[in-house]
Amino acid sequence: MRVECVVVFATLPPMTAGIARTPGDDAYALIEQMYPICRSITGDGVRATLSIINGIAPLTLTEVPSGESVLDWTVPPEWNIRDAYVADASGRRVIDFQQSNLHVVNYSEPVSARLTLDDLRPHLHALPDRPDSIPYRTSYYERSWGFCVTQHQLDALEPGEYDVCIDSSLEPGSLTYGELVVPGRSEDEILVSSHVCHPSLADDNLSGIAISALLARTLLEGPPPRHTIRFVYAPGTIGAITWLSRNRETATRIRHGLTLTCLGDAHPFTYKRTLAGSAVIDRAAAHVLATSGLEHQLIDFFPYGYDERQYNSPGFRLPVGSLMRGRHGQFPEYHTSADNLDFVSQARLAESFEVLSRLIAVVDGDRRLINTAPYGEPQLGSRGLYGALGGTQIPDAQLAMLWILNLSDGEHSLLDIAERAQIAFEAVASTAAVLEEHGLLVDA
Ligand code: ZN
Repeated sequence: MRVECVVVFATLPPMTAGIARTPGDDAYALIEQMYPICRSITGDGVRATLSIINGIAPLTLTEVPSGESVLDWTVPPEWNIRDAYVADASGRRVIDFQQSNLHVVNYSEPVSARLTLDDLRPHLHALPDRPDSIPYRTSYYERSWGFCVTQHQLDALEPGEYDVCIDSSLEPGSLTYGELVVPGRSEDEILVSSHVCHPSLADDNLSGIAISALLARTLLEGPPPRHTIRFVYAPGTIGAITWLSRNRETATRIRHGLTLTCLGDAHPFTYKRTLAGSAVIDRAAAHVLATSGLEHQLIDFFPYGYDERQYNSPGFRLPVGSLMRGRHGQFPEYHTSADNLDFVSQARLAESFEVLSRLIAVVDGDRRLINTAPYGEPQLGSRGLYGALGGTQIPDAQLAMLWILNLSDGEHSLLDIAERAQIAFEAVASTAAVLEEHGLLVDA
């Protein structure tokens, strides 16, 4: 079933008169709206989240029924939750889902019981080394139930009896994913994929979702890109597997791809390469990060982390890298209640939006050109080309021109030239456009 998503729950706040909002402000406002929602791999939390994204850029939603076979997996029953708590003998809620949705193990089956503390204890999860944080735990594929608490909460529980309630449902329903396609001039595609299954965790991955949605909106408002750019918002693992299962034909058109996660924290950027490590997206990411002047690291692919591992699997082998700041599992706030609205900032989100926008523009704009006057060096002065470049912001524009003319032999792309000449891609591309206008370059 494919349905147009028309329900809009929220949009960005109106612009304050005279104060321009930055992409970082917009991303933060979106994260604030999505943060309270209890998401999971299925259920109304995902739908509510996709409705918020739909307020930014129009999504197409797909509902895939529970029980459907998707590659080697099966779409699970749909999970929804209304309330959950542990109450002491006086009726006071000592653990309360209404305070934080992280308090309930995600995908907990319904339960209503009176238990002693000793019987309850195996169902309680805490982090002794981070006693102020609630851990994030899931039990998607094994029926169980549990609560997550701070170590302080756990330590404060007195022996005695407790009323335990999880008002959840695990029933036949569907898994929901959203897509947005920015039509390009070519059928070749760029994939931008974000997981939408984590509950109240701001960096992982509301930051990725927000940045992705804002880029989609920006691209829809601009001139058509060369590639068709497909944004996928799907639950982690099972959602990407479901999307791949239902889009095998589309997947064959994907030339470049990225998963986005953890883009709002204060860590330096991390780019995780594709399996091959030498794809255009890998080289473009290295180039954009190097020329951004921002601290960063490039790491090789490994089959863990986020949905890049599904896209890079041997049956698909799609060149999908991953852009993030803090790395999966490598910072203390990861998968805890400390990954909250204070852990992400407008300034870091703005940087991430800028890096992502440049990266997509480089991948989309990379192409091969041919020098139409390849014998010797064409006369630039007689063509008025020194003047044409005089007003640009490109340092050493003449050298850029000479590099482009030298390497535009049909073999080297603009990114090859940018790497070889150590000039930012944007300067190479805009200089090439001037040479193209003057008839010195044509498409290879
Ligand atoms: Zn995660």
